[in-house]
Amino acid sequence: MRIVGSAGKDDIAVASIAEIRDGRYIEFVESVQPPLPRTKKWVLIVSTMFGCPVGCLMCDAGGHYGGRLTKSEIISQIDHLVESRYPDRSVDVEKFKVQFARMGEPSLNPAVLDALEDLPDRYHAPGLMPSVSSVAPSGSERFFDRLMDIKTNLYSGGRFQLQLSIHTTDTQLRDKLIPVRKWSFKKISAYGQAFHEAGDRKITLNSALADGMPFDPDVLLRYFDPEKFLIKMTPVNPTYQARSNGLASYIEPLNEEKRYEVVTRLREAGFEVIVSIGELEENLIGSNCGQYVTRHLNENSPVSGGYTYEIQRH
Ligand code: SF4
Repeated sequence: MRIVGSAGKDDIAVASIAEIRDGRYIEFVESVQPPLPRTKKWVLIVSTMFGCPVGCLMCDAGGHYGGRLTKSEIISQIDHLVESRYPDRSVDVEKFKVQFARMGEPSLNPAVLDALEDLPDRYHAPGLMPSVSSVAPSGSERFFDRLMDIKTNLYSGGRFQLQLSIHTTDTQLRDKLIPVRKWSFKKISAYGQAFHEAGDRKITLNSALADGMPFDPDVLLRYFDPEKFLIKMTPVNPTYQARSNGLASYIEPLNEEKRYEVVTRLREAGFEVIVSIGELEENLIGSNCGQYVTRHLNENSPVSGGYTYEIQRH
């Protein structure tokens, strides 16, 4: 793996692009969450594919697809970041999150599961907490069945986070935003009910909510138990794709004080809701999904900045 560019600030977030095979690029991110020091929380966000075949309307990673990463290519991103800070691989961090949530839909790559099985032996990291973020495409049943086993065997008791991106409660608009066949809410709900055991973290339903997209608590309540599912809302990043598809963000990342009617209604319905806008300075780092490599490929030069909000996709 050869690092070809990186940008950011050590005390917030650093995004890197690496050439991992001849002429093929990936990106990964590490971040902390001020005011928490790295010893309290350190988040790595890694890619699982070269680009992504799903092509969500708000995501630049879907602009190209060049195949899956192997297990060792996925792990090499984690190794690089861990060894740069903890050369003996002893990660003395209370909450060490490894998110499979950068370029690529993880459930379309079984090597993600192989990597998940390897992590606990690879590092001495009592705070290790992996997180898989997916749009739950059709055909991913075997992946999710095995994921459930791995979670139960290796990461029980709240040491794993599952995030499923739904974006809107309107089925037709969801089909437009995530233009592949995917699990219905009924199927996501049934899987989540089976996945969630006592002591586990709630399953996160993600939404990068665009202006005008319905997000109806009544629809959610029909399928999702607030005891087992929580809602995370993020801004729609100003990616090339989002702009060209006319998607504006419902969440205003520069207006932290703003109260959102949708969020109020979800809370009144009993859901725990996280509005995740990231650090203001992080916004200036350019650590947004897919945007990094896309720009690198377009301009053929390492990028040094940007204006983005959230460092995870899906
Ligand atoms: S949001 Fe995730 S699934 Fe959708 S195109 Fe981007 S990487 Fe792929």
